[in-house]
Amino acid sequence: MSPSLTRIISWGHELLEEVVKPGSLAVDLTAGNGHDTLLLARLVGPEGQVVAFDIQENAIASTQNRLLSEGLSAREWATSDALLSRSPGVDLVCGSHTLFADIVPDQPVAIIGNLGFLPGGDKEIITQPDSTLKALDAGCDALAVGGRMAIVVYPGHPGGDVEADAVSLFFSKLDQDCFQVLLVKVQNRPQAPFLLVAEKKKGV
Ligand code: SAM
Repeated sequence: MSPSLTRIISWGHELLEEVVKPGSLAVDLTAGNGHDTLLLARLVGPEGQVVAFDIQENAIASTQNRLLSEGLSAREWATSDALLSRSPGVDLVCGSHTLFADIVPDQPVAIIGNLGFLPGGDKEIITQPDSTLKALDAGCDALAVGGRMAIVVYPGHPGGDVEADAVSLFFSKLDQDCFQVLLVKVQNRPQAPFLLVAEKKKGV
């Protein structure tokens, strides 16, 4: 792990590692190149389940390849299928994370979302405030008590600033009786990515 103080993504990973146990259910809202999905798959282990969403087929393929190269495989879910079942393994959903409430089969203990565009892909295809907020809302509803949702936000690309404001507002309005919310931010670099983590204290 990089020793950099500003390792925003891995701070998020560390905070999820504290709550994920073997056999847990975890969700990746934005599979991308599969780094976060792989981390979650390792944390939940062979008895656990990861559901990972991405709207781009090349991201799903990239995630599948990363898992395969690490000796893990994944099922690919098609939008015509019904609710996913709760069964060990990784489910890759080529579709929007707005499907969260419809298909995630149980209460996840960890949810990760690395917003923005696919590194190495089309920089015009970015996460959008409306769909992101819908997924965050569904995530907060579904999260198990004691579970955490970690979102890395990128204000630096075109459109990213609007999403960053919307996501920040969403987290700041979470009921303090039900959620603890942490912000990890590079204070002297306003365009730098930042991390928001919500931990569920009790049912909403
Ligand atoms: N977590 C990834 C990793 O570990 O490599 C990086 C994710 S990348 C920064 C953002 C991803 O969000 C892109 O692959 C993009 O296709 C995806 N995305 C954009 N809108 C989406 C949506 N509505 N639902 C799911 N994924 C979306």
